[in-house]
Amino acid sequence: MTTLTGIAASPGIAIGPIHVVDPEEIEVLDGPVAPQDVPAEQERFREALRESLEEVRALREKISLETGEEHAKLLDPQIDILEDPDATEQTLNAIERDQRPAAWCYRRILGAVATHLEGSDAEYYRDRALDVRDVKRRVLGHLGGVRSHTLSDLRVPSLVVASDIAPSEMALASRETILGLATDLGGRTSHTAIMARARGIPAVVGLRQALDAAREGAIALVDGTRGVAVFDPEPEVLEEHRHRQRRYEEMARNLAAIKDRPCVTRDGIDVHLGANLEVPEELPSVIQNGAEGIGLYRTEFFYLSRATLPTEDAQYNAYRTIVEAVGPKPVVIRTLDVGGDKFASYLGTPTERNPFLGMRGLRFSLQRPDIFRTQLRAILRASVHGNLKVMFPMVVGLEDFRRAREIVLSVRRDLDREGIPVAARVPLGVMIETPASVFGIDLLAREADFVSIGTNDLIQYTLAVDRGNEETASIYEPLHPAVLRALRAVVEACRAHGKPAGICGEMAGEPLYAVVLLGLGLVEFSVSPFLVPEIKTILNESTCGEAAALAEQCLALPTPGDVRAVVTEYMNRRFPGHFVG
Ligand code: PEP
Ligand code: MG
Repeated sequence: MTTLTGIAASPGIAIGPIHVVDPEEIEVLDGPVAPQDVPAEQERFREALRESLEEVRALREKISLETGEEHAKLLDPQIDILEDPDATEQTLNAIERDQRPAAWCYRRILGAVATHLEGSDAEYYRDRALDVRDVKRRVLGHLGGVRSHTLSDLRVPSLVVASDIAPSEMALASRETILGLATDLGGRTSHTAIMARARGIPAVVGLRQALDAAREGAIALVDGTRGVAVFDPEPEVLEEHRHRQRRYEEMARNLAAIKDRPCVTRDGIDVHLGANLEVPEELPSVIQNGAEGIGLYRTEFFYLSRATLPTEDAQYNAYRTIVEAVGPKPVVIRTLDVGGDKFASYLGTPTERNPFLGMRGLRFSLQRPDIFRTQLRAILRASVHGNLKVMFPMVVGLEDFRRAREIVLSVRRDLDREGIPVAARVPLGVMIETPASVFGIDLLAREADFVSIGTNDLIQYTLAVDRGNEETASIYEPLHPAVLRALRAVVEACRAHGKPAGICGEMAGEPLYAVVLLGLGLVEFSVSPFLVPEIKTILNESTCGEAAALAEQCLALPTPGDVRAVVTEYMNRRFPGHFVG
C-alpha cells in the first residue's frame, strides 16, 4: 500500500481500477526530406496548424456552451500558441534547413519551449507548458504521429493517474468514465483542478509520485476532500474509504435539506460556519453547501495564477464579485500571503534557505508597500458592496499589526481625498499562526477587531514540523497537548477582550475534531466548502456542555496519543457509524 498526500483539488471519494494516461510522447517518423519535397512538407505543416486551430476553436465553443465562458477561456493560450508566427516560422525554416519532416521539427521546437516553461517558479508559466505540450501533440497527430493512451479511449470507468491532464483532454473528460483523478503536477488553480471541480470529479493533484506508484488495472482510491491518494490499499483502508464515500454521497443527496439549516448546537449556541475560498470558481460550491459567508479568502491565488501583478481594478472586480455573491453574509479577505511555499517570480519573493521562516505573509506586504497599498485600495473599494472584513496573515506581534493598520488608514485617507466611497467600518483581524502570537494574544486581542487561528501554520511552528513534509507527517499532530493549550489560550484572551475568535486551518474541517474545538470555546469555523455540511451535521447534534467536558478531559491528558484515543472513542460513541477506526 502506498499513501501519497497532495493537494485536495476536487472533493469526493473515488475508488476503482487505475488507468495510467501517459500521452506525453507521440511517435513521429524521422528521415530525410528530399529538397524538391520541402515545399510540400511545409504546406502539410501549415495544413496541420489550420486543422488544429479549427479543432481547438470547436472545443472552446463546446466548453463555452457546456460549462461556460469562464472555463472556455482556458483554451485561449492554445489558440495563441497555434497562431504564434515565431513557432510557425522557426518550423518552416527548420524543415528547409535540416531537410527533416515537419513533425520532427515542430516537436523539437515546441518541446524546448515547454521544457523552458516547466522550469519556471511561477505556476502560471508551468501551466502554459502544459498548453504547449497539448498543442504539440495535437499538431503532431495531424502530421501522422501516433499517440498511445488518451482519455477519450477510456471505456471502463477508471481512476485516472497521470503526470497532468492536458486542458483539451480534460475538456472531454466525463464523470461516467473518469471516477477520479490523481496527478503528479498541478495546483489548486491549475486547469485540471478547476475543470475537475466543474465536472464534479474527485481529484488530488500535485502528488509528485503517483505515476511511480500506479499500476495499470490495480485498485486505488482518491480522497479529493482531504488530498490523499492510496495505491493498492489494505482491505481496512479500502473499507474505511467506501464508508466515507457512502457518507459523502448520502450527504450530497441530503445537501438541499442541510443547506438552509442554521448551525446551532442542541443547547442553543449559534456557531458561525463559513467557508475557505481560494479561487472565485469555488464560489458556487460555497453557496450550494450553505456556508455562512467566507471566513478566509486566500487572495494569493489570484496573484499566483497570473504572469504579472494584478491591477487594482482586476482585484477590485474580483473582490466585488465575491462580496456581492455572498452578501449580506460576511467575507473575510486575507491580504496577500506569499512566501513559504507560495511563490511568483514577478513578486520578487527572495530565494531563502528557510522560506517558512523568511519573508512571508504580512512581512512581505510590509516590505512591499506598493503591492500592499494596491491590494488594500482594491479591498476598501469593494467594501461598499457587501459585508467585508480584512485579515492579515502571519502576524507575529502588535508592531506588525499596528503598521498594517496604519497603512490601511492611510489608503482610506487617499480614497476619501479622491472621493471614492469606502464602507464606514471595515473590521481588521489578525491570523494567529505562530507561538509568538499565541503568547502575545492578550496584546493582539486588545487592538484587533477579530482573530482567526490558522492551525496549518500554528501546528507547524508550535511543533516545529514542516506542514508539507511527508516524512514528518506523523508528528504533525493537531491533537497535541501544546496545540490544544494554544487554542484554549487564544479563546480565553479573546473572550476577556470581547473579540470574536475563529479557526480557519484544516483542523477546523476535520470532523473528528469538531466537538473538541467547540468544547475549547470556538464558535466560528471556516472550512473547505465541501466540508460545511458534515461539520454542521456534527455540531448540530452536539451540546456545548458535553463538548466542554470532552475538551477539559483532553486538556488534562499528557500525550497526543492519549488525546487521540479519548477523542476517537468519544466520537465513535456519540456518532456511531460516522467514523471508522
Ligand atoms: C493556516 O495556516 O492555517 C491558514 C489557514 O493559512 P494557509 O493554510 O493559507 O497558510
Ligand atoms: Mg497560514
